[in-house]
Amino acid sequence: MTADNTPLPSRLVAAIDGPAGSGKSTLAKLLAEKIGGVYIDTGAMYRSVTAKALDSGVDPKDEYAVGRIAESIKITFHRDGAVQKTFVDGADFSERIRRPDVNASVSIVAAQKPVRDKMVALQREMGRHGRIVMEGRDIGTNVFPDADFKFFLVADDRVRAYRRLKEMETQGHRLNHGEVLANLRERDAIDSGRAEAPLAKAADAMEIDTSHLSIDEVLQKMLQIILFRLGGHA
Ligand code: C5P
Repeated sequence: MTADNTPLPSRLVAAIDGPAGSGKSTLAKLLAEKIGGVYIDTGAMYRSVTAKALDSGVDPKDEYAVGRIAESIKITFHRDGAVQKTFVDGADFSERIRRPDVNASVSIVAAQKPVRDKMVALQREMGRHGRIVMEGRDIGTNVFPDADFKFFLVADDRVRAYRRLKEMETQGHRLNHGEVLANLRERDAIDSGRAEAPLAKAADAMEIDTSHLSIDEVLQKMLQIILFRLGGHA
């Protein structure tokens, strides 16, 4: 039951898509907590394949070699208090997958069909039961086109770059706003322009511009929509 006594179904899929820095990860984690669901960060999966390729000396553009990595990689998520950790083949890759070299290559890797086919199959398997909040670029359009709730978060790209810069700084990376902005724009262009499941808003997704909203304001909007619809309203 939720605060206003609306019963939550035991099976529920919420898809949160949008470009980097739009607030997806923060909101998806909080929403999962609120509805007693499991949070799944699909970007971490493409990042894991990219990190593994780079660490193995594989060229991120080499579709065949990258595809083989995607086929054999074991990606698991573990909760460590409030923090979600990403393990790759048994090793903690949580910090590795956020480094600038991964940022620079992840969109090239994620555009490749063999990689996407494998990751999407894993995502559908992970999201098969229970209450799920899955965030990415193609969750509402491709991974779970029948998701119960679809949100598409957007924000001004300078705001997104500023948020990402702060995040990178807390992880000890020294970058400037211009570098981060250039990386975000480049990733947006590749993610939106690729042939395979590009970054796009599903026709039935609710778009929220987070540029001038606090995290709590966005969360409350999402919860209101969920509770309103579950309460039997259109
Ligand atoms: O969300 P995050 O910025 O960590 O995602 C990293 C990259 O992974 C994106 O820029 C995109 O290229 C790719 N991605 C994707 N499909 C998803 C999630 C992420 O192509 N569902």
